[in-house]
Amino acid sequence: MDTIADAHKETLDVIRKITDDGILTEQEVYDLADYLNKNQEARGSWPGNSLFEILHQVFEDGVLSDDEMAQLAKILTDIETLCASHFVPPPESKKILLSEIKLDNLDLPRIQKTIEIPVKATGESYKVDLGQHTCTCPGWFGHRKEFQADSLKRCCVHMAEAFWQQVQVGAPEEWPQLFKDLVEELSYRGRGVDSDATWKLLGIEDHPYLVSYGKNEWSNVYAPIEGGKFDRYGYHREGERWAFGQIPNHYQVIAEYLNSVPA
Ligand SMILES: [Zn+2]
Repeated sequence: MDTIADAHKETLDVIRKITDDGILTEQEVYDLADYLNKNQEARGSWPGNSLFEILHQVFEDGVLSDDEMAQLAKILTDIETLCASHFVPPPESKKILLSEIKLDNLDLPRIQKTIEIPVKATGESYKVDLGQHTCTCPGWFGHRKEFQADSLKRCCVHMAEAFWQQVQVGAPEEWPQLFKDLVEELSYRGRGVDSDATWKLLGIEDHPYLVSYGKNEWSNVYAPIEGGKFDRYGYHREGERWAFGQIPNHYQVIAEYLNSVPA
């Protein structure tokens, strides 16, 4: 049987959405378990069936042990590499040179609003100032305070959520679509902007691509898709491969760029 050809596409999409940056959180494990619990077809076919047994155990005893977390991470890595190894990259219609890429930064927009973001797990709430880009959470004071004004890296998970709320009620017209889709995606995954990474805006044929590189073995690439929207892709710099074999437009020159910058 050809596992990849018979793969349950929706399950792969769900897995890809939560895991292609190489970091697995407890919440993501529960989200995945929840998806498989509700979807019989997904858990009866690959790759859901390879995950369900262990996720079922997690639910039986209500505990996610370090060992189970490690096993899940291993299975997910195997699924990802299997998909990537079956991937045959299509030829690009037009080859873009590294020298043709325009380099820029994506800044946080400013809006004079302070928004309180409640945290379900603890019952606490934090105040986010979208004009000064501050948050009252300990993580913000610990890791993000020192970044310069407007830097993306000042954006903790609460700030991402606050920005996303603004987008939902109608953001100012000048906010780029890329930024709106970025905060939507961060909010969906319950993350802030990776503050250990370097973030760059690449201009390729007049389209913006947001990329990160740094300590994490996975680079994030937010790239244009259909309908003027943006989606996140994962690129493994050391393995020189795209997560799950999913490639953005101009994937060759983006990979070339990410391989050319310092670790
Ligand atoms: Zn915060």
